[in-house]
Formats: sequence, structure tokens, C-alpha cells
Amino acid sequence: MKTATGTKISGGIAVGKLKLYRPKTYEISEEKADDPVSELERFESAREKVREQQRALHEKVVAEAGEDSAAVFEVHEMMLDDRMVSACREIITDQKHKAEYAVRRGFDNALRQFRNMDDPYFRARSADVEDLKIAMLDALFGNEPDSLPVTEPSILVADDLTPSEMVRLDRSLLLGIVMREGSTNSHTAILARSFGLPAIIRCREVEDDWDGKYAALDGYDSRLYIEPPRELIDSLMAKRKDELEKETLLSELKGKPSTTIDGHNIKVYANICDPSEVEAVLSNDAEGVGLFRSEFIYLNSRTDPPEEEQYRAYRKVLEALAPRPVVIRTSDIGADKAIEYLDLEKEENPALGYRAIRICLSRKDFFKRQLRALLRASAHGNLGIMFPMITCLSEVRECKEILGECRRELENEGAETGNLETGIMIETPAAALLADELAEEVDFFSLGTNDLTQYTCAIDRQNEKIAAFLDAHNPAVLKLIQMTVEAGHRHNIRVGICGELGADLSLTETFLRMGVDELSVNPGSVLPLRKQIRSITLGENEGPG
Ligand code: PEP
Ligand code: MG
Repeated sequence: MKTATGTKISGGIAVGKLKLYRPKTYEISEEKADDPVSELERFESAREKVREQQRALHEKVVAEAGEDSAAVFEVHEMMLDDRMVSACREIITDQKHKAEYAVRRGFDNALRQFRNMDDPYFRARSADVEDLKIAMLDALFGNEPDSLPVTEPSILVADDLTPSEMVRLDRSLLLGIVMREGSTNSHTAILARSFGLPAIIRCREVEDDWDGKYAALDGYDSRLYIEPPRELIDSLMAKRKDELEKETLLSELKGKPSTTIDGHNIKVYANICDPSEVEAVLSNDAEGVGLFRSEFIYLNSRTDPPEEEQYRAYRKVLEALAPRPVVIRTSDIGADKAIEYLDLEKEENPALGYRAIRICLSRKDFFKRQLRALLRASAHGNLGIMFPMITCLSEVRECKEILGECRRELENEGAETGNLETGIMIETPAAALLADELAEEVDFFSLGTNDLTQYTCAIDRQNEKIAAFLDAHNPAVLKLIQMTVEAGHRHNIRVGICGELGADLSLTETFLRMGVDELSVNPGSVLPLRKQIRSITLGENEGPG
């Protein structure tokens, strides 16, 4: 199977034959016009014809996809009164060239100017100039606009498509679109999205001899598969089903609060591991990030990542999500997340070993680099810093002391910092048992049920052989969660869950009755969880808030 990768325009899955489209080209000479006056008349009547065509396309799209999608053709009509048209007239009247040559030169000059613009919106307008140029040349040569070669259900492949070509396609036969060039801001892209067609652009690996081949287009992940096996098709179809369910949930729940029928509100946040997941946070309408596992920055680097690099990564996420809260957990490396440049020794029991806060507190410079980066990033959003693997009070106090030291250093250096909250993960039974004392020190707790279950039940979470012994709903773990929530609330701090159990819909009501204030789950679970919360009725004296 061959594959090609592009850039997403519109999600969806298409399976069918590929059809390659090559637009006709015109040979145009520099020949002078014998009679510039009649040449100008030819130009003006071509322009009138193109204007009529654009009006007809506008009406067609209004009827099929609404006024917003059709606006491009009004823009085209206006462009027919633009400076590039006056330039064409001058080439005909002053330089006495034929209308075809004037169109090519006048429109190509405008094309170059648009393509060189810094603003991506204006750069994308070059496709509209190209569209009008082709339409003008068709009119001058007396040709009808190209009818595209789709005569059976197909995935259309083209170097680029103009908005007019896109609209003239018979969409009952069009399964999806793959372009070798193109821009995400172009009107063609906007039309593909509003027609709901799977579409990708800048898919440069497409080969000419793929014409007619059976293929699958994955618009969600911007990939084209040539002659895909049955299993791949099945998994793409399953993906489409999931995505459609998500879209339905989004249309039902986007912007709605995560509130029970009787008005108890709970925050639903997303867990992320990488700045690139910001898009998933937004597209799933999460209310913020409850756990940003900062290990990515260490795992993606060959050397200890400098403060500046960390600052830029954290800042990017905070800015993209502001004013939503973002909780960044300090490094939780060691155990299963080995980092070569830290030279960590192999251990008999890594889960009980030198990891997370234990590394940070014994390698102060390493820890300070991250804390300084976080403090600087806090000026750019709503940040919470969270310390993992806490087992006693002195660890939290030491973390806070080092954080204070970093803040003082930065203030002396004149660096900008912002307000932030501090919290800890409750993921060891020791922390749950000490929750009353720990709550005095921090602004929030977040229950890491993955480790809390591992350490409470003495079941290595990495060992598949003993997975059968694991009861995710072990009452001992639920009891520790309950104790932690009660202790947190006695000291007026928020308590959330960021381990996998937070996404377990069969426990949502239990957690709400316990009074859990926040649930942070993988982005794909945000909306199903919100739906679940909105179906629950608690009682007057129960629940969060
Ligand atoms: C947890 O332990 O529940 C948790 C959220 O942290 P991680 O899975 O990264 O250990
Ligand atoms: Mg953990």
C-alpha cells in the first residue's frame, strides 16, 4: 500500500476511485492587435460574460450551501472592477496587445502580488485571481468552462482547484478532494468545508499513475492510502463513526455548562501531553487543562532542555487557551519514563524508586529551570503548577520554598511573572491519608487515580500479567478518593480527578455525590462526560459547589 500525507482542509473519510484532473492550458502569443478598439470590446464582453457566470454560481451556492459560502462569488464580481482589470485595458489600448495577452499579463501580475503578501488571507486570494483569469480566457477563446471529469463516484485529485471549478463539480459523484497545492484560507477550502467534503491540500506525494486506483482518504488525519487493505477501511469507518458521534455531541453540548439536572456544576477539563493537543482541547470544548504532563519536553530532547525552550512551550499553551485555566505538572520522569541524559540507574522497583518529585528535589538546578520557565510563562495565562508523587508535608514545603526562591530570582532580574496557583497530585495512599495537613499548603488537589490504584492495590500498572487482578473500582481506592475530597473541602480547596478513572462514566455519579469539583480527562472524553453529568440529578445537600 502506498500513502501520501497532506494538510487538513475538512475531516471525513472517503473510499473510492481516484480521478486526476488536469485543467486545460492556453498558448498565448505576444501578437499585437490590429484594432485595439474592437479588442477592448472583446475584452469587455468577455468580462460581462464572466460576471454573469459568477452571478449564476453565486445563486447556485446560495441555494445549496447558504449565503455565507456563496460570498466568494460576490468577491469575484467586485474583482472584475479591480485595478488588475484597468491594467488589462491599458495593455490593450496603450500597448496595443490582444485581449488574451492583456488578460494573461494583467492577471499574472496581480497573482504575483497576492502570492508575495505576508498576510495568509491575502495570499490565499491568489486562487480567486487564477479563477477569474481562467474564466476570462475561456470566454475570449469561446470555450465553455471546463467540465470536470467526474462521471462516477470519485475522489478528485488536482494540482489546485479554483472556487468555480469546485462549485461546478457534480457533488453527487464527489467523494473527496486531494490537492497537491492550495491554502487552508482559500475560498476553495472554505467551500469544501461547507459542503462537508473530506479534503486535504499540499499532498505533494501523489503520483500521476494513481489515476483510477482504489483509495481511501482520511480527512481527519490528512492521509491518502492507495489500495488499502480491508482492515484499514474498517478502522477508518470506525473512526468516521466516532467522529460523527462527536460532532453530534458538539452540536448538542458546545458552550453548555457541565451541570447536573438540579444545577450542580462541575468543571470538565482535558489532559494533554504535548502543546500540539491544544487544538483537541478547543475542538472538544474542554473548560481548560487539568493535567498537562510536561514530560514531553524532556522526552523530546537529547539534552536537558534549557529554561528558554521550556518557557516558550508553556507560554504557547497558556496563550492559546487563556483565559481557561491550565495546570502544568512538573516533571514526572523516572520509572517508566527513562531519560538518557539524566543518567538514571536501572532499578529493581522503578515505580517505587527514584522518580518525579524525588528527582526534582535532589537535582535542584534541574527543577529550578522548569520552575523559572513556568513562573515566566504564568504572565501569559491562567496557570496552576502541580507537583506529582507527593508523600509527605516536607516535600510540598520544599517545592514551595524552591518556587519562592525562583520567583525572587526572577524579580531581581526584572523578569515578568504572573499569578499562579499551586497544587499537588494525590496519587499515593500516604498523600490521601495526609490530605488534611497537605491541604493547608496548596490551592488544589488532583487525584491521580492511575498511580493511586497501583500503590493502593500493590498492582504494577505496567505489568500485563497481573492486569486481571486489577479492579478499577476497588472500594479502597474509592474510599481514599472520598477522604481526599472531604479533607480538601474542610480546608476550602478544590479537589479534582485527573487519572483515567475520571473518564469512567459508570463512576461519574459516584464522584459527583462525593463532591469532586473537577474532572480532567482525555480530550475525546470531554463531551461524553459532559453529557453524562447533564443527565444526573443529585440531591440538595450533595455534590460539588
Ligand atoms: C495518575 O497517576 O493518575 C496520573 C494522572 O499521572 P500519570 O498517569 O502520568 O502517572
Ligand atoms: Mg501518576
